[in-house]
Amino acid sequence: MELVLSRVAGPCYGVRRAVRMIEQHLARHGAGSVVSVGSVVDDPAVMQELTGHGLVMVEGVEQIDSGQVVALPICGGTPDLERLVEERGGVPLATVCPRLVRTKDLAYRLAIDGYPVLVVGGADAPDAMAILDRAEAGWREQIASLSQPYGRVFAGLLVEDGSVVKAEVPEDVAHVAVLLRPTGDFETYGGVVLAALDRFEEVRAYPSICQSVRNRQTEALRVADRCDTVLVVGKTAMNLDGFLHRMKEAGVRVVQLGSLDDVDDLDLSDVRALGVVSGCSTLQSTLVVTVERLRKRLGGTLTTA
Ligand code: SF4
Repeated sequence: MELVLSRVAGPCYGVRRAVRMIEQHLARHGAGSVVSVGSVVDDPAVMQELTGHGLVMVEGVEQIDSGQVVALPICGGTPDLERLVEERGGVPLATVCPRLVRTKDLAYRLAIDGYPVLVVGGADAPDAMAILDRAEAGWREQIASLSQPYGRVFAGLLVEDGSVVKAEVPEDVAHVAVLLRPTGDFETYGGVVLAALDRFEEVRAYPSICQSVRNRQTEALRVADRCDTVLVVGKTAMNLDGFLHRMKEAGVRVVQLGSLDDVDDLDLSDVRALGVVSGCSTLQSTLVVTVERLRKRLGGTLTTA
């Protein structure tokens, strides 16, 4: 049995940065000095580590006291979360991933320049929603500054694929910008750009995918080239749907591991070469323990792709 570990595994830059910020604050100011509304990172192991250091999770903004430091989700959470926290007198800790912040700022500037924004991503993706929300804020500001009343405005929309571009954008729109959410899929983005080029006079295209996600996807495909089965450790932000689709086409089996407790129960009976990849929020310690347990259980050699 060969065990092939992806070279890009463990937590991404955004997760490591947020965890470090919270832990540093707790170390300086004590347990309970930071709260979060729900999860900062969508991974129970990360949240368990943070609460172990003294982070307090609350269920709603109404539980925030004035002056309380609040860690925001790395993906921004709901579009109005930061505003609600500030209205309660909370002090947001800047744990939102800077890559997302940059894309949101870009959407805002494009709106100020008069470009409706097509954000590649669905309504179930908080980062896509946050980007569109920022574009809408830019348009609202634009319109508020006009001396003449202005008619209906199209600020942009979320697009899951190129087929909706023609159907859902008003006919009088002649130019748009296309943005990809940081954890989105590059191929879907390409399809939307092509559909936009076919429909509009001018298209500004920004392939604003997170490099960490891109590298992770590329490396996961390299691992899969050498294996008949790939194990995905932890919740993933590497566009799992697209990955699963490609693996199916290549005839590679994919097994997902949600929790360390399940390592020994994985059905790996016919596996010849097992690839191991991880999501962006998987802790290094989870990955190391998983690989060690697999080695003990299966024997064989460990290599990196
Ligand atoms: S995957 Fe990329 S965008 Fe998402 S938190 Fe990590 S570094 Fe930031």
